[in-house]
Amino acid sequence: MNFTALSRVLEERKQPAYRLAQIKRAFFVEYLADWNELSVFPKMLRDEMAEKIPWNTLKVIKTQTSPQGDTVKTLFELSDGKKIEAVLMCHQDERRTVCLSSQVGCAMACSFCATGTMGFTRNLTSDEMVEQVLYYARFLKKTGERVSSVVFMGMGEPFHNYDAVMETVRTLNDHEGFNLGARHMSISTCGVVPGILKLADEPLQVNLAISLHSAIDQVRSKIMPVNRAYPVAKLMAAVRTYMEKTNRKVFFEYLLLKDINDREGDAIALAHLLGPDFRLVHVNLIKYHETHAFEGTERSDRIAFLRRLHELGVPATHRITFGEDIDAACGQLAVKEEEMKLKKTTY
Ligand code: SF4
Repeated sequence: MNFTALSRVLEERKQPAYRLAQIKRAFFVEYLADWNELSVFPKMLRDEMAEKIPWNTLKVIKTQTSPQGDTVKTLFELSDGKKIEAVLMCHQDERRTVCLSSQVGCAMACSFCATGTMGFTRNLTSDEMVEQVLYYARFLKKTGERVSSVVFMGMGEPFHNYDAVMETVRTLNDHEGFNLGARHMSISTCGVVPGILKLADEPLQVNLAISLHSAIDQVRSKIMPVNRAYPVAKLMAAVRTYMEKTNRKVFFEYLLLKDINDREGDAIALAHLLGPDFRLVHVNLIKYHETHAFEGTERSDRIAFLRRLHELGVPATHRITFGEDIDAACGQLAVKEEEMKLKKTTY
């Protein structure tokens, strides 16, 4: 919901200030699904508001639930017809994490990523990001659960949409609203240095995750074009500034790609790179969803790589993989939708 436009309409209608508070509560705390459920409003006012300000701007196109029921992926259509996706991951404990998109498509062109093949279309507004989270909040409400963390790891590079992403963080953090602690939100970047430095000066304690995938420039530049602008040394210098200023742990995402970044030399390079900062780093090894261009590292080699990192002193774990059966890797559903559209127009 666009709260700026809403405030304007309420003001024009000379509504008392508590009306806005009632709507905010219904939206962010009670997770009501539409204007019809707002029974504290007179019906006439409700109908008028519904006409002027849509409660939701995202339309659900498709939802996929994994056979285990631990992953729910949703393809949304935006008001301009563009498609984005978000994923709910239900951990074995109580944690319920929403992975949301910050852009339609992405300009970063990482070669292992389905979204990277789409190119960049546009930034999402903060309202569109917040609505992805609210959609899952309503979904979980049915079982008495709630969203416990949010990660900006879906489609897009969050630091290329910095202001709207931070507005989303502040909105979700608002203690009188959704009230999600900043420590329960993580921003994942492919390594956009100015964004890392900017985040270091933010008052909110949001987590930072870096999609590293290789500590070796030649390898990283091949799979992540961003490395040509911000090579590994430059990236680490920014990460160290961030750690010095915030004293917060930084998470490094490392997708294991067969014979590309999973060799002995890759483990050693990673240990050298992170070595001075082991206290404040953690490496998440990720199994590759084989969808695009590369082969993932086999299970036994993934275990061996992790063991080697531990021998070298690197704090690392395997990240639990969600939703392999339902195209849950970033951008897969949206790319499939585009392919379907293409097929329809070709035949
Ligand atoms: S991995 Fe992230 S930054 Fe890279 S292309 Fe995909 S969405 Fe963009």
